[in-house]
Amino acid sequence: MKKTIRDYDLKDKKVLIRVDFNVPIENNHITDDTRIRESLPTILYAIEHQAKVILLSHLGRVEKKEDKQKNSLELVAEYLSKQLNQHVLFVDATTGPLVEEAIASLNNAQVLLLQNTRYEDLDGKKESHNDPLLGKYWASLGDLFINDAFGTSHRAHASNVGIASYLPSGIGFLIEKELNAFESILNQPERPFTVILGGAKVKDKIEVIENLVSKADQILIGGGMAYTFLKASGLSVGKSLVDEEHLSYCRDLMEKYPDKIILPIDSVNALEIGEYVPTKERFVSDFGDDEIGLDIGYNTVKLFSQYLKESKTILWNGPVGMFELEPFCQGTKSICQLLYENDGMKIAGGGDTAAAIAKFQCEDAFNHISTGGGASLELLEGKKLPGIEIINEK
Ligand code: AMP
Repeated sequence: MKKTIRDYDLKDKKVLIRVDFNVPIENNHITDDTRIRESLPTILYAIEHQAKVILLSHLGRVEKKEDKQKNSLELVAEYLSKQLNQHVLFVDATTGPLVEEAIASLNNAQVLLLQNTRYEDLDGKKESHNDPLLGKYWASLGDLFINDAFGTSHRAHASNVGIASYLPSGIGFLIEKELNAFESILNQPERPFTVILGGAKVKDKIEVIENLVSKADQILIGGGMAYTFLKASGLSVGKSLVDEEHLSYCRDLMEKYPDKIILPIDSVNALEIGEYVPTKERFVSDFGDDEIGLDIGYNTVKLFSQYLKESKTILWNGPVGMFELEPFCQGTKSICQLLYENDGMKIAGGGDTAAAIAKFQCEDAFNHISTGGGASLELLEGKKLPGIEIINEK
């Protein structure tokens, strides 16, 4: 078990907290503040326990000088001030005297946000390549390190692994919540345990399938990847997305787990991809040569609903259709609605899945929606996340 922020006495301590403030910004306006809101419990806890709070985060990519201004965290400091009801200090630097002076004059319960950690990428990718001197320098600014940036914990950067290598460390409440959710379903799922797997390509999900196929009672396959499975089972899928290199992988998997891999029985097809194109609903044995499969059909939703109704644990990764476009969103929307009717444990992970759930406003149907796309995928693959592995054990 990893130490958490609760395991430390924070009073009078300079506590470095790595948060994930990588929020979308358009015209100087934060368009989705989920990540900021998710970081509040840890920051508030540190304030209440009289820490001197120093926040570090990245925002976007900083590859050239011109990227600096649009990826400044100053706007986030202003936004956070309103959320916390107290002025959040901001220093427009990541290292050096400005940073050190600001930290030296911090009082207990005050919050300071440093400039975007990726400003350090301009000079030899020091942040993203976990430059040991940079990690050591940041560690020298505090007494304790708390990692609460789940979304970047699958990467070893100077602002997570680097700092944690030199300071006592713990995880914050967001990472704790994410780990508890995934561990509960991966280690001891209540059965039946059903996985809904969608998304574009088989190749991106192979390791997830490998890790989950023995744990789950069934895997319902939708999205672009379903057409590779359908083709592997001998059907013609017209011009649908097919991952030719993985046809034999899919065939072997279906032979090995015939009762576990559940494929669509019908599909919403079109001759082209677009917002206003006509569609045809076809049984999978009935594809036209020019058709592209872009969503699961009505009968597949009914088939999947039989499994979902019975399930005590459900994990969803990947939309089952091209949900961004109106003609192909119904399958994903129906899955969201079906999940409302199930009162088991339901977890969703992956950036696009979270975006689909937000689009259809179905957040309430879930016990947990992961905030980390890549990080949640790696947990589902059974991998250890370096930003969490490095944290001290209890
Ligand atoms: P992933 O990031 O792998 O979860 O993939 C998500 C993407 O898969 C979304 O942008 C969907 O539009 C896309 N997708 C879902 N179904 C299909 C499909 N039948 N054909 C092509 N792309 C799809």
